[in-house]
This record gives sequence, C-alpha cells and structure tokens, in this order.
Amino acid sequence: METITHNLVAILIQILCFNFLIFPINIILTIILSFFSHVLFDAISVITYHTPEKMENDKFWKWWHIIIYGLSIFSLILFMIPYWLALFFANIMDLWDWVIYRPIQKKKYNVVHEQYPGKKYYFHIFVDWFRDKFFNWLPRWNYKKGGIIVEIIMITIFLFLIVILI
Ligand SMILES: [Zn+2]
Repeated sequence: METITHNLVAILIQILCFNFLIFPINIILTIILSFFSHVLFDAISVITYHTPEKMENDKFWKWWHIIIYGLSIFSLILFMIPYWLALFFANIMDLWDWVIYRPIQKKKYNVVHEQYPGKKYYFHIFVDWFRDKFFNWLPRWNYKKGGIIVEIIMITIFLFLIVILI
C-alpha cells in the first residue's frame, strides 16, 4: 500500500487505543497493531495499482506517484503531532527495507537488486509469506490502473473515520 494508507490506518489504531484503553496498554497495543497493520495492508495491496518496479516512462504511473507521494508526505506532516508513535511503527518496515537496508546493500555489493545477499532480512519477506498464506485468493490488480480506485476508496473511508473520531 501507499504510505498515506498505512498512515491513516495507524492513526485510527492510535485513536482507538488511546480512547478506549488505559496506560500503558494503549501505547503497547498502538505499537504492535501499527506494526502488523503494515503487514496486513501490504499483503492485500495486490488489489491496488502497485507495480513492483518503477515505470517512470509511463505517464499514468508517474502522475499517480507524484500525487500519492505528495499526499503521503502531507499526511505525515499534518498528523505527526500527536500520532508520531503509530506513524513510526506503521512505516518502520518500509524505512528499514527501502530507506536504510537497500541502499546499504547497494553500496556494499555491486550486483542487481535480485542478488543482494541481505534480501532475506527484508521485513517484506514476511509480508510475502503472510500474503501467500492468507491472501493468495485475492485478484492481482498490481498492473491494473483501475486499482487506484480501490486505494482511493480505502483512503476516503479511513479519512472519514478519523474525522468523526477526533
Ligand atoms: Zn511496505
């Protein structure tokens, strides 16, 4: 899923935990549920437009990513206070795999991404396992442009729930 979707789910988790649970259970559950929400939503991301590789020559791909990355950054800034805890743990997998570990591997080994020896330490290996185990029945719409509608619907629903809950 796109970062904004992970963000909105995490914010909902923190709102619900802090509204209904006492300290320190609210904090502990916010951390655990935000972390696993990333696994769940990445596992079902096959029903959204989510190409595994960059398609910078494709106009549609490019515009969708400009918009969705922009919204993702905007949502981070807008909700950082007070939802930084949930936001951090909902994005820690992408931070580690994409921002930290992947560039380290790239620098260390001069091979194509598929041959990185450290690939087995990616968090997303667990996501792939989880998807194969529980969501193998989902249709694969990764390359279907209409898949953005699924993500837009999800974003709209989560935003609506956040607005009525805060
Ligand atoms: Zn991810």
